[in-house]
Amino acid sequence: MTAGGNSKNSDDAEELEAGKIRLVMALRRQGIRDGRVLSAIERVPRETFVTGSFVEQAYDDHALPIECGQTISQPYVVAYMTEKLEVGERMKVLEVGTGSGYQAAVLAQLCRRVYTIERYRTLLNDAVKRFEILGFHNITAQVGDGGKGWPEQAPFDRIIVTAAAPEIPLELANQLKVGGIMVVPVDVEGEQGGQKLVRLTRHEDGANVEELLPVRFVPLVEGVARES
Ligand code: SAH
Repeated sequence: MTAGGNSKNSDDAEELEAGKIRLVMALRRQGIRDGRVLSAIERVPRETFVTGSFVEQAYDDHALPIECGQTISQPYVVAYMTEKLEVGERMKVLEVGTGSGYQAAVLAQLCRRVYTIERYRTLLNDAVKRFEILGFHNITAQVGDGGKGWPEQAPFDRIIVTAAAPEIPLELANQLKVGGIMVVPVDVEGEQGGQKLVRLTRHEDGANVEELLPVRFVPLVEGVARES
């Protein structure tokens, strides 16, 4: 590689680093207060989770397209959902909808182990490669229908769903420990395309449900994807 090429690479790296600092400051201004969440965002290189020309937009605060017609979530939404999940370092967390693997990587900074499920094998394989490259060893990933949860590993301290469910998925709520929390986007009835983020806290005899933000996620789809 030429010297010119090298200096371009280091300019790009500096540009990304500056973008990351701006993003973390913007997240703080927008109300993300949990320092552990902000430093998890700082430790995970979002550019590793996007491809091609999207790399230069890695620290813009918006969702970006990934393979299989899916998206990597907006950083603010990742930070917000992670904060609302109140993850502790000894916890076992289930994520439904691995996508690029970015949200799982952020969670992995904060808990003991993340279990993540994706219905597209292509996406799952790419995400697993990223976890290996980055040396994130506390993530277990598999292809499957995440709507059914991961019964072999249940119960979980926390569950995060990163695709919109038609209603609160009770099969997942049943895989929470008592005192466990699930954050999930749910379709708003009678409102085409409307979704709201819901936080469910499981109790001994039932659950408490809070409505958080309006959001926009790809839909939770039943079954494993058939790919050509
Ligand atoms: N958390 C991801 C965002 C992924 S978008 C990230 O950080 O990049 C939502 C993902 O959920 C998509 O990849 C989609 O394929 C997946 N998905 C949708 N329905 C699913 C299901 N039933 N089981 C598992 N994954 C599902």
